Amino acid sequence: MLILECPYCSVKGEETEFHGGGEAHLKRYGPSSNDDEFHDYLFARENPKGVHFERWRHVNGCGKWFHAARDTMTLEVFGTYSAQTSDIPQEIKDKVSAKRPDWKWREFS
Ligand SMILES: [Zn+2]
Repeated sequence: MLILECPYCSVKGEETEFHGGGEAHLKRYGPSSNDDEFHDYLFARENPKGVHFERWRHVNGCGKWFHAARDTMTLEVFGTYSAQTSDIPQEIKDKVSAKRPDWKWREFS
């Protein structure tokens, strides 16, 4: 069972309390982007077996969007944080690195 905590109203609940919004930290390109960049923005998604950063919305609560860092295999949640940040908070990075030392960090936008 996936248990998430909304970082805005601190409500903890099962995933049915929330609604998944796909991958977080997608790189957005401007009007000068080429077709490959726009294609990747629309269709290319990570589908990892392990650490993943996702967007979630607290639909049965405050209604706000947030980001969650979790393991797709174990459903362990490393933390949730505001969707208005483009950088992953250092405390989340530290938790991921401590629990998954072999996980390879990629560049997030
Ligand atoms: Zn909330």
